[in-house]
Amino acid sequence: MNTANHRLLRDINLSLVLQMIQEQAPISQRDLVQHTGLSPSTVFTLINQLHASELLRECGYATSSGGRRPKLLEMNPEGGYFISVDLGGTKISIGVLDLVMHLRQQWVYPTPSEGGEGVFQKLMEIISDTCQYCESQAWKILGIGICTSGIVDCLNGIVIEADNFGWHDFPLADRLKASLGFVPVIEHDTNAAAYAEFVYGAARGQSNVVYVSIGTGIGAGLILNGRLFTGSNDMAGEIGHITVHHDGPMCRCGKRGCLEAVASGPAIARAYVQRRGEQVGVDWVDGKTVIALAEQKDAISYEIVTDAGKMIGHTVGNLTNILNLDTIVIGGGVMAAGGVMFSAIKEGIQSVLLPRMRDTPHISKASYGPSAGLVGIGALSLARMFNAVSLSDVGGGHSGAWGSPAWQRQHGCHS
Ligand SMILES: [Zn+2]
Repeated sequence: MNTANHRLLRDINLSLVLQMIQEQAPISQRDLVQHTGLSPSTVFTLINQLHASELLRECGYATSSGGRRPKLLEMNPEGGYFISVDLGGTKISIGVLDLVMHLRQQWVYPTPSEGGEGVFQKLMEIISDTCQYCESQAWKILGIGICTSGIVDCLNGIVIEADNFGWHDFPLADRLKASLGFVPVIEHDTNAAAYAEFVYGAARGQSNVVYVSIGTGIGAGLILNGRLFTGSNDMAGEIGHITVHHDGPMCRCGKRGCLEAVASGPAIARAYVQRRGEQVGVDWVDGKTVIALAEQKDAISYEIVTDAGKMIGHTVGNLTNILNLDTIVIGGGVMAAGGVMFSAIKEGIQSVLLPRMRDTPHISKASYGPSAGLVGIGALSLARMFNAVSLSDVGGGHSGAWGSPAWQRQHGCHS
């Protein structure tokens, strides 16, 4: 085996150990050997390297099964920091996360209403400010990640469609690289939130997960066989555009009767206004208001919200039948409002599950609220850094610098 191959092997092992610590911490060296299948001496060497680079720390002792109690290991929170941005239609959140993905600082700004270039300039400004803040705290920045609404080609860092801020085929990664000199990790916001729930939240330790976000739109992020699944062109998870009523209302995608057109926050509000006729104005009603009324047992609201919840449940249940999922996590702005919607979703799921699957999926509300995207894109940046650090210098040259488009093409975008 030549030197490059030796290094490649060592670095793949390093990725494996780091990923295992991230997912299973606190974990003993003995359990790392068992879970990774690597030899004890290899794990020992890698742990020493990680200690030396301050990425790892000891955190107490495991219970002993005879003999000395093994030391437990975890990521060192202070070992490095990630800047995360959640780019939304009405607000831009930016945060700094430590190495265990605790949000150490967060700022929220309104999204510039003029859209287009104005949004990009604002993005640059707040990232620069946050970099300066990190510098003032002597925090070492390891990476920057951005999650965004719309359709995203994360492999090439291009926002294909984001109507909310008027971006079409916008080369976000290239523009940021040209302006700030770094290449960010870019991902769809629902996928980022799904990844946060998978690594740290309600779906931790599960393998086949759907995270459903219900808000202004309805979207889903999929974890299949323990990996984020985004499909052939990063468009997997468009659950909101499954047709549920052939002659239903028009959807913003141009089709009729999509799930989103009958069960999202705005759709619930529209249904309420239609049912109440002239007694209510459209200007004060939104989905959350109707859900709050349903919680107070207002009859019309209750019916609308339970119908919408069951419709979402049927769709998610059918997806669960197709993919044999073990975990369903329901999140998003509308879900934060109450339990009537969640109960109806669960009922809808159970009513369509195949008999043999009825006891299989664990259904829960999301662990993270509005910070899901920030944590998820931070965790993805961390995961990709592990892989890239380990593979970047193999074969010479620096074209494989972590997170770069070249690296992403070479190694696959998703961790
Ligand atoms: Zn649609």
